[in-house]
Amino acid sequence: MPLTIRNVKTILTAPENINLVVVKIETSEPDLYGLGCATFTQRPLAVKTAVDEYLKPFLIGKDPQNIEDIWQSAMVSAYWRNGPVLNNALSGVDIALWDIKGKLARMPVYQLFGGKARGAVPVYTHAGGSDLDAVEESVRQMMDKGFHYIRAQLNGYGGKFPVSAPPGSLPGAYFNPDAYARSVPRMFEHLRARVGFDVELLHDVHERVSPIEAVRIAKAVEPYRLFFLEDALPPEQLEYFEMIRHQSATPIAVGELFNHPLEWRSLISNRLVDFIRVHISQIGGLTPARKLAAFCETFGVRTAWHGPGDVSPVGVAANVHLDISTSNFGIQEWTPMSDRLQQVFPGAPTLKDGFVTVSDAPGLGIDLDESLAEKFPCHERLPEWTLARTPDGTAVRP
Ligand code: MG
Repeated sequence: MPLTIRNVKTILTAPENINLVVVKIETSEPDLYGLGCATFTQRPLAVKTAVDEYLKPFLIGKDPQNIEDIWQSAMVSAYWRNGPVLNNALSGVDIALWDIKGKLARMPVYQLFGGKARGAVPVYTHAGGSDLDAVEESVRQMMDKGFHYIRAQLNGYGGKFPVSAPPGSLPGAYFNPDAYARSVPRMFEHLRARVGFDVELLHDVHERVSPIEAVRIAKAVEPYRLFFLEDALPPEQLEYFEMIRHQSATPIAVGELFNHPLEWRSLISNRLVDFIRVHISQIGGLTPARKLAAFCETFGVRTAWHGPGDVSPVGVAANVHLDISTSNFGIQEWTPMSDRLQQVFPGAPTLKDGFVTVSDAPGLGIDLDESLAEKFPCHERLPEWTLARTPDGTAVRP
C-alpha cells in the first residue's frame, strides 16, 4: 500500500506562557508521524485555522515523501501567498515532512542535508541590565557559563529612557529613540574597556530608530568590533542598508520579520548585509530556508536564524539541523529552555559550554507529549510591547 498522509493536527501549547503552534502529520503507517513548527505567537488561532481548514484537506491522501511538490503546490494553492499566517501554516507542514523523511531514511535530518559541517553549533545568548555595570555583570555571567557570543542590551529594546508624553497621549510602550541611540556606543565603550575584545558582542536595534540614526549608530560602534548589529532598519526601509554599508564596516544582520523572498534577494545579491536571520517558520519552513542558505553562500552572507522563545523546540531543532549542516552558518540565537518545556518536548536540542547539539535519532529527534501540552493552554492577551510610541505619542515600529 502506498504511503499517504492520513491526518493533520494543530497543537497549541504555552508551557512558558509563550504561545506555540506545532503541526503533527500522521501517515498511513501507524507509528510514522512528523512534527513541524508553525509558531506565530501573536496570531496562533489564525495559523490553526489555516492548517485545519485549508492545508489539512489539501494534504490528506498525498504522499508525504514529495516534500518539494507539496511545498510548491501548497504555497500557491490559495493564489495569494507569502504572508506570515499562511507561511507559518505551511512551515508546520514542511518541517513535519522533513521529520517524516528522516524517520523513513532512519537518519537525523542533518544527514539528509549533507551531514555535519561542524561538530556542534555555537550560539549567542542575551545579556542585559538597567545600567552599564549591570550589563557588564550580565555579560560576565554569560562568559562564565561558556558563551563566546553575547548580545548586550541596556534596559531592553529602546533602552526605556524617561519620556514625558504630551497631554492626551494614547496608551502604549513609550521610549526615547534619541537617548537610546546615544546610549549604544557608550555601552560598547564601557564593555570593551572592561571585558576586552576576546568575546564576541552583538546588539539588537529592533528597528527603534530613524534610518539616518541607524547609519549613525553603525558608524559609532565600529571601533568596538561587534559580531553584528541586528535589525538596524525595519523591512519598510531596506534601501538604507546601502547607506550603512557605504559608511561603516560594522557587520549587519537582518531578517526576522521577512516573509517574502523579495525582502532578502537584493540585500544578499548586492552584499549589503552579512547575516540573514529569518524566522524559519515565517518564510515557510526548512525547504525555503535551505535554498536561502545556499543563495547566501554564493554571496558570502552567513546564516543566523532567529531563535527567540517564540520558536517552539521543534522549530529550534529544525534550526539546529540546518545550522550543523550549513557551510555558511554564522551563529544561532539561543533562548534557554526550561525543564517544563523539555518535558513537553522530549529530545529538544541541548546546550553545553556555548554550543548546541541535536539528537541523532531519526528525523528531527524531538517529540511532543500531547497530554502534557494540553495542560498549558495558549492565552489571548494582546502584547503591549508591540505598541511602541515615541515621546510625542506617535506609534512606530516596535
Ligand atoms: Mg531581533
